[in-house]
Amino acid sequence: MTQKRTMTINSRSYDWPTRPAVVICLDGCEPAYIEAALASGAMPALAGMLANGGTQTQARGAMPSFTNPNNLSIATGVPSSMHGICGNFFLDPETGEEVMMNSIRFLRAPTIFAGFYDAGARVAVLTAKDQLRELLGAGLDCASDRAICFSAERAGATTRSLNGLEDAAAWLGRPEPQVYSGDLSLFVLYAGVRLLAEWQPELMYLSTSDYIQHKHAPGSTEANAFMAGVDGALGGLLAGGARVVLTADHGMKPKHHADGTPNVVYLDQVLAAIPAATGARVILPITDPYVAHHGALGAFATIYLPTGIDPTPVIEVLRQVPGIDEVLDRKAACLAYALPPERVGDIVVTSTACTALGTAPDKHDLTGLDAPLRSHGGRDEQLVPFIVNGPLGVATEDLRNFDAWQCATKVFT
Ligand SMILES: [Zn+2]
Repeated sequence: MTQKRTMTINSRSYDWPTRPAVVICLDGCEPAYIEAALASGAMPALAGMLANGGTQTQARGAMPSFTNPNNLSIATGVPSSMHGICGNFFLDPETGEEVMMNSIRFLRAPTIFAGFYDAGARVAVLTAKDQLRELLGAGLDCASDRAICFSAERAGATTRSLNGLEDAAAWLGRPEPQVYSGDLSLFVLYAGVRLLAEWQPELMYLSTSDYIQHKHAPGSTEANAFMAGVDGALGGLLAGGARVVLTADHGMKPKHHADGTPNVVYLDQVLAAIPAATGARVILPITDPYVAHHGALGAFATIYLPTGIDPTPVIEVLRQVPGIDEVLDRKAACLAYALPPERVGDIVVTSTACTALGTAPDKHDLTGLDAPLRSHGGRDEQLVPFIVNGPLGVATEDLRNFDAWQCATKVFT
């Protein structure tokens, strides 16, 4: 019997997979989307997989329950305190400017992809939006024959030297999808099915977008149709012989009143009534170039106070505001949520399942919000599905979504 090879990346141990290891991060997949789609018969491949030895459970995602922090947690196997990416924006205290965190220079830990690639593995990383491609592709040389990394958003413009594949849209025979579409995600998944068959990667990460989930509730016709598309791709991956872990970056909750208008706590307005908060700045880390489907309204905010101001009286007032879930100072928040302190404000605020956080009404463009607001960012959107086509193979106690690669690469002897 050959000795089982293992890899250590960010102080965690991974088996060298003996068959293709695939992790799907289904963006914004509140567990109810899968439960409703299964119940309606829209996911026959998943139902068959679960009936034949598959495992369906749930895991806790990283905080804040946003896309980039969780994708990087899954990609590195560790929380934001170690990899550094805790949102799309943070405030640079030196310059007072809001800085975008979507760049490799803010990433402090190697990805599992880079670790395996350096050790000789073939690795494919496919994302829906291009903004995640750079971060997730860190350390991969796509000009070699062993790495493919591209986004569905730019599928028509991929090159052999930069992405490892020339014109991915033509290769897959699907047009480059619109960025605001469910097709953006399905492109990623079906490209994954084809790559598995043609290229046999040792590791393949498929990360989708949450466009459908922001607009449509679990069990709706649109959500079930999307999940049926996901199921078709899942069936292809299973047929291709992969060990597949299906998880998500975060859940998704309705954050609107009965009449469909958004239910928002505007923090600038709350802080304006607190004398101790004079000069405070609110940062909403959900803000990114694609806000039409949520208007930059999430469930997590961080507040910077002028230097030397005691946050305690501000925290006490904020805790009394209906719709606010948890208010912590920097130290407590970094401890509770595993965040990097130098990229977090003096105060961290989360909102409840049915409430969103904003700055001021005139700072949010809600004209693109053509469906009642659904969003994420807080503790109530932290629970995600964790599904694998076999035994789990990792400890079940406090399972995290960023245990996905330990599970996917697990070799049973
Ligand atoms: Zn997301």
